[in-house]
Amino acid sequence: HQNRPRSSELYEEALQHIVGGVNSPSRSFKAVGGGAPVFMKRAQGAYFWDVDGNQYVDYLAAYGPIITGHAHPHVTEAITRAAQNGTLYGAPTELEIQLARMLKEAIPSMDKVRFVNSGTEAVMTTIRVARAYTNRTKIIKFAGCYHGHSDLVLVAAGSGPSTLGIPDSAGIPASIAKEVITVPFNDLDSLKLALERWGDDIAAVMVEPIVGNFGMVMPAEGFLEGLCEMTRANGSLVIYDEVISAFRFHYGSTQTFSAFPNQAAIEPDLTALGKVIGGGLPIGAYGGRKHVMEQVAPLGPAYQAGTMAGNPASISAGIACLEVLQGEGVYPRMEELAVRLTAGIEEGAKRYSIPLTINRISGAFSTHFCDHPVTNYEEAQDTNTEAFAQFFRHMLDQGFYLAPSKYEAWFLTTEHTEVDIDRTIEAAHESFRRMAK
Ligand code: PMP
Repeated sequence: HQNRPRSSELYEEALQHIVGGVNSPSRSFKAVGGGAPVFMKRAQGAYFWDVDGNQYVDYLAAYGPIITGHAHPHVTEAITRAAQNGTLYGAPTELEIQLARMLKEAIPSMDKVRFVNSGTEAVMTTIRVARAYTNRTKIIKFAGCYHGHSDLVLVAAGSGPSTLGIPDSAGIPASIAKEVITVPFNDLDSLKLALERWGDDIAAVMVEPIVGNFGMVMPAEGFLEGLCEMTRANGSLVIYDEVISAFRFHYGSTQTFSAFPNQAAIEPDLTALGKVIGGGLPIGAYGGRKHVMEQVAPLGPAYQAGTMAGNPASISAGIACLEVLQGEGVYPRMEELAVRLTAGIEEGAKRYSIPLTINRISGAFSTHFCDHPVTNYEEAQDTNTEAFAQFFRHMLDQGFYLAPSKYEAWFLTTEHTEVDIDRTIEAAHESFRRMAK
């Protein structure tokens, strides 16, 4: 059992200066029993250490970006080099071309790319571009998908907003919310109805092709194909939000679906990226078909800009991170560890009769405390929130850091080892034992 007095002190102090004590609401422990979140001091590889000296095995990976572990030497060297050469010019660099090339090679639907500073910005801009291109206003999104915190997509939003019980954020004008139509994920019939009803107004259908924000959820066989077909037949654009999914499951995106069983390769019109492509520094990117991207200034009339966009530190970290991920056997190894870990967790849940559904995709997975499958947002909501909170606390007390939300995934990194996995399985069994008592 760990003690965290310094975290508690810092939390009290933080509350006086920072709203809610955290700079992103998903970091708060509100949904897992409240109290002070853990204040971290440093991190290396698959571990971090808090301000009280406790060590944790990290399965958060900062909500995705830290796929090569913390302070990976290759990434750190790239950041150091960039810092020594000046962190921002407000003028273009060769580095940006290099990362754009790497993204295009891995994601062929991106003829043209633009770098921004976050996934939120990337998604927000794809919507603007789609509206400019189609001269239409509305978008369709899927319930429980999270696409960042811009106005239009904070309707029926999974991840943090759902965790905190505010899937429809306050502060979104009704005039804007009415431009979003929400349908259930994996439900082509509902999509069809929405397109029939509002077809002429739909600029785009936005989707996380593999969902990462109400757990990890795979599209049903034929779902993305059907989505794409109907959307295009309607003259609307398909936008893939791959902020989580790109470079998470294999080197590339979900668009090269040969990597996934029973899925067709689909090339969306626009793609939003973030997280992993910045190697742990702030980044986002969007891109797509040349004629669509030519809407963007300075070529076209759709405006998007950024003082920090394409900064050499983020770009260098991103290049270095992708270079590590190009290494031989990197993804199969993460998957192998995830298979071992999920098998061990499932066995523990069974032993102590705790209902648990695990959705695993390559080296990432989600744990749903329920005895039904989780294929859409409704099923992800209909799980035992209290059981997750207990599990989270027991794992934390044994030195294993998960996201403090039942909707978020566990992420393996290149730095986790078999020893970490086996220790985690042991801790999970102990957590279930305590929960069963
Ligand atoms: N889209 C998806 C699918 C995401 O998971 C996230 C972040 N969790 C975002 C967009 C927003 O990215 P950011 O937090 O970098 O703004």
